[in-house]
Amino acid sequence: MRTNTDGLILKEQNIGEKDKLVTVLTRHNGLLRAFVRGAKGINNRKNSATGMFCYSRLSVYKTKNSYIIDEAQPVEVFFGLREDLRKISLAQYLSQLIQSLANEEEPSEEYLRLLLNSFYFLSKDKYPPEQIKAVTELRAACIAGYMPSLVACEKCGEYETTVMYMDLENGVLYCENCAGSSALFPLEIGIVRALRHIAFSDFEKIYSFKMQESALDDLAYITEKYILSKLQQNFKTLDFYRDVCGIQ
Ligand SMILES: [Zn+2]
Repeated sequence: MRTNTDGLILKEQNIGEKDKLVTVLTRHNGLLRAFVRGAKGINNRKNSATGMFCYSRLSVYKTKNSYIIDEAQPVEVFFGLREDLRKISLAQYLSQLIQSLANEEEPSEEYLRLLLNSFYFLSKDKYPPEQIKAVTELRAACIAGYMPSLVACEKCGEYETTVMYMDLENGVLYCENCAGSSALFPLEIGIVRALRHIAFSDFEKIYSFKMQESALDDLAYITEKYILSKLQQNFKTLDFYRDVCGIQ
């Protein structure tokens, strides 16, 4: 069966001299591992259209055991991502994160839109990398069904206090009067507002907010801790990104 879809290439491996195997996040069929036959020729358009982080229109068919991409037309190659190590290493981590959340054979429109926008803004320097990281991590968690309860204090319903406290494991907030002594993360109210913005806004608005750099670092720290606690997984690409940024 043959389908036409569009997808973002998240991984490529050479298979022999002429073929390759790619992992692609497709709009209609979710995360696919597919063979690209005869992709390795010089000046082969199919090769560049199925290269790492290329977003392409694809013709895919399914055999008994595998998927095969027989045609590919590039739509966007995100040149700007390749400009510096920080951007490319963040793109690699975000790509690995989405690969661990998306499923095969399930429409992945929301994950695809999130990753395409993050790659676009990262490649064009529209927002700081830490902002793009925080938005992608928290919104991906929400798409996956891990939306934290951010509306108000879990115990007394207080909407805002100067500092609020997050229980990462249960994904709930406490105000400063109810926090008690358990191991909670203190968050300045500006961070709480940013988390709410990312989780609750319409998609078109989720990236657009302004914060000081130090607050952005705190935001990206908490979104990272939150998604990692939900997935119970470490990412080598995240360790590498941290090394590149000099984050301990
Ligand atoms: Zn309270």
